[in-house]
Order: sequence, then C-alpha cells, then structure tokens
Amino acid sequence: MKIEQVFQNNKEWVSKHLEQDKNYFKNLSKGQAPEFLYIGCSDSRVTAETLMGVQPGEVFIHRNIANMVPNTDLNVMSVIDYGVAHLKVNHIVVCGHYYCGGVQAAMQPADLGILNPWLRNIRDVYRMYKSELEEITDEEKRFKRLVHLNVQEQCVNVIKTAVVQKAHKERNLKVHGWVFDIHSGELIDLKIDFPKILEGVRDIYELE
Ligand SMILES: [Zn+2]
Repeated sequence: MKIEQVFQNNKEWVSKHLEQDKNYFKNLSKGQAPEFLYIGCSDSRVTAETLMGVQPGEVFIHRNIANMVPNTDLNVMSVIDYGVAHLKVNHIVVCGHYYCGGVQAAMQPADLGILNPWLRNIRDVYRMYKSELEEITDEEKRFKRLVHLNVQEQCVNVIKTAVVQKAHKERNLKVHGWVFDIHSGELIDLKIDFPKILEGVRDIYELE
C-alpha cells in the first residue's frame, strides 16, 4: 500500500458518500452524539468501526496498546471524562483481542525499554491471577485467559472513576467487556457482571 493510494481511496470514499447523500459531510460537521465509548487495542487488525459495522459519529473511540485503562494515564482518563460527562455516552466498552502482542509481551519477563511501565499494568493483572493462570498448562489457553482477565480488570478501572459512578447513578450508564477473536472475526461479550463489580469496589473506590 503506497501513501498516495490513501488519498485516492479518500477521494473515492468522499464521492461514494456524496452520491448517496449530498449533505453527508455537512451533517457530519454539525456535531457528535455517540451512544457509546469504545476502548480497544491499537493493533492494526482490530479495526474498531469495521468490526462493529458502525458509521462515523456513532462511537467515541480510544485505542492504545492492549486496551489499557491505567488509573494515572491522562489520555484514557480524559477520553472517559469527555465521553461520559460531555458526550453523555450510555455504554463504555473495553474490547480486548486474542493474539494481542501487548498481552503476549507482558507474559514474558524481558526488558522492553519505554514499554516496561505500560506492560507492567498487564503484568500486575497476571500477578493478581497467577495461581489460576499457571494452572492452565496449554500456553494458548493461558494467553487467551489473560486477555479475558485483562479486559475484566480494565473494566474495573473504568468503574473506579468518579464520572462513571456518577453517570451510572444518574442515567444507568453501563460498562461492558468484549473480546475480538481475530481467528474467527467474532466479537465475544464477556458478560461482565457490572453491578457485582461496582458493589465490590464501592467500599474502597466510591467517590460519589
Ligand atoms: Zn492488542
């Protein structure tokens, strides 16, 4: 794929939309009111909008390595705050994926430079579930289980934020954990028990 091709593709994309609706971009420029916020991995194979079949304006999106929600990361915390308090999304999704390079790197003790503090957040999840994970002898199954657990723990991090707890109380905002299976193209709902997690963290993290 050459860089010039991108601009050619863009021209075709613009004319395709204008053919169907001459006001398409005019309307798009008026503003956004997405129903949900998606936090996913930067992996080039996990194309958020395409795999969900959504159009521009429908989903507020944040992507980083291994779909992390570190409590001190200003980037993801700002996205959550803006999405919840200003755009008024009603659902937040943390979407992980099988064969995630970030999760895989965190499973091997190695010095990866600037990536170390980022991956440490996933290593912390591994440490929390070490006994469960190390009972799984099949390496691929253990890798997949860590992907699930990481999504679950990042959902907990989302739930710990004051803005999310406030929106849950006010308008029943919900948090979901999903996994994208690159091998089949399927999106799996982990059916995270949001009320139970909220109840579990409330004593310590309730901010509202
Ligand atoms: Zn990934």
